[in-house]
Amino acid sequence: ILEFQHLSKTFGSNEVLKDINFSVNKGEVVCIIGSSGSGKSTLLRCANLLEKPSGGQILYKGENILSKDRDISEYRTKLGMVFQQFNLFNNFNVLGNCVVGQMRVLKRSRGEAEKLALKYLKVVGMDQYIHARPKQLSGGQKQRVAIARALSMEPDVMLFDEPTSALDPELVGEVLKVMKELAGSGLTMLIVTHEMGFAKEVSNRVVFMDKGVIAEEGSPEQIFNHPTQERTREFLKRTL
Ligand code: ATP
Ligand code: MG
Repeated sequence: ILEFQHLSKTFGSNEVLKDINFSVNKGEVVCIIGSSGSGKSTLLRCANLLEKPSGGQILYKGENILSKDRDISEYRTKLGMVFQQFNLFNNFNVLGNCVVGQMRVLKRSRGEAEKLALKYLKVVGMDQYIHARPKQLSGGQKQRVAIARALSMEPDVMLFDEPTSALDPELVGEVLKVMKELAGSGLTMLIVTHEMGFAKEVSNRVVFMDKGVIAEEGSPEQIFNHPTQERTREFLKRTL
């Protein structure tokens, strides 16, 4: 459904992504792991065009979204994004957060938007909190609302950039549990994570990035139990 071909990104003279090639199939859960600064966030930001790639192609359902005549706003609505720092709108309550994008971007009626928002707030276990303001919620609750907000747009692919890194340790589990359920429901997910146990258990494929390249890619069993690259072994030794 999403394919990166020879993707590169440079900031000035800093080559942050070099010849990235991989794809995410429909229904697949792909986890990206790697050291700080290896380019994981930049790759996700290129995927939803928050950053403009310097070279290569991104294919969505086989079509190059970087071609000039392509409507990228329509493409963007097909991707849901969840960040480390929730990025909820503090001046809206929980329901408002999940409704506003649907109405403004997808032009859904309020009734339709609220129905979908409630459906996905239920999925993440936050339907009891529709009138709460983000300020009144814990980090784990905020992140679950952020996930519901993204799901309410009914995207084809969900991108997650370290969704649990900003959370207190005791709140990580509730967010991973929701993500695990989503993975089991057949949602297509591309997840940058430092949670190796989660990646091992939930992903269909793991991509290990090192200094802007994909150093190794394979099943969780391959990457975690039988890595072929020395740098993968060293990274895992440091993190596990
Ligand atoms: P972390 O695990 O710490 O989140 P990461 O793998 O997500 O790291 P990136 O954030 O993608 O790494 O950064 C990769 C490199 O790109 C870093 O050297 C960073 O300094 C650089 N970089 C990222 N964004 C920009 C930017 N907007 N301008 C200049 N350099 C940038
Ligand atoms: Mg990052």
